[in-house]
Amino acid sequence: MRYIEPHANMVSRTTADYQAIAMAGCEALCEPAFWAGYDRASAQGFYDYYRQLTITEPARAAKFGIPHFCWLCINPKEAEDPVFAREVMSLIPEFIDKPNVLGIGEIGLNKNTKNELQIFEEHVEIAKKYDQAILIHTPHLEDKLKGTKLIVDALNNAGVDRNRVIIDHVEEHTAGHVLDNGYWAGMTLYPESKCSPARAIDILETFGMENIWMNSACDWGVSDPLAVIKCALEMKKRDHSAQTVDKVIFENPRTFLEQCPNFKI
Ligand SMILES: [Zn+2]
Repeated sequence: MRYIEPHANMVSRTTADYQAIAMAGCEALCEPAFWAGYDRASAQGFYDYYRQLTITEPARAAKFGIPHFCWLCINPKEAEDPVFAREVMSLIPEFIDKPNVLGIGEIGLNKNTKNELQIFEEHVEIAKKYDQAILIHTPHLEDKLKGTKLIVDALNNAGVDRNRVIIDHVEEHTAGHVLDNGYWAGMTLYPESKCSPARAIDILETFGMENIWMNSACDWGVSDPLAVIKCALEMKKRDHSAQTVDKVIFENPRTFLEQCPNFKI
């Protein structure tokens, strides 16, 4: 089955994962700048990380025939100190023109603090200045609905092109708010937390198949790089047509990502 993995943290994964993803039919893989499981000690740590995302990881993916793309930012979990965050953000212009960069992400909120929101808004301004698409992380568990509303309000106030913004990790109680405001929605499939395949398909059946994608967000924790394809098989079991499955796992992400000039498959 052909599919696009729109959110995978491959710096944390093995070559065996790349092989499995390639064999499962992955046509393109996108990697947001994220929290790597530890707080980086200096802005230089992010400089090296951006080099990894724009040079090393595309070369590793190419060995398995997979086009690799990335997003740039300082993730919300490390953005609580605005001075540090701005030092990292000042590195972004040097990398923004690299051939595999899709835009700014995953920015967003972690604990919904004032500082996080300030840095989120400054990232949005960078995206506007460089005419970039935006990928957004929403907080987990009890903070999710409040964080999603704060993010949507900030985006509405900033006057971004809503078609070029995707808000990720939506669940039953946040998908409607994101879609009703004209933004794209992403669902993250995790074995232990976030959405199970069954929940993700319930959300699709509730809110429709438009402007929504699914991703594995596989990383350094318990996660499954084949989660999207496993969810697609689950959709087939529920009698969704091959055309509908293809729309959700291939056509939708392609439609969103083709708005990024560097995205080609
Ligand atoms: Zn995230």
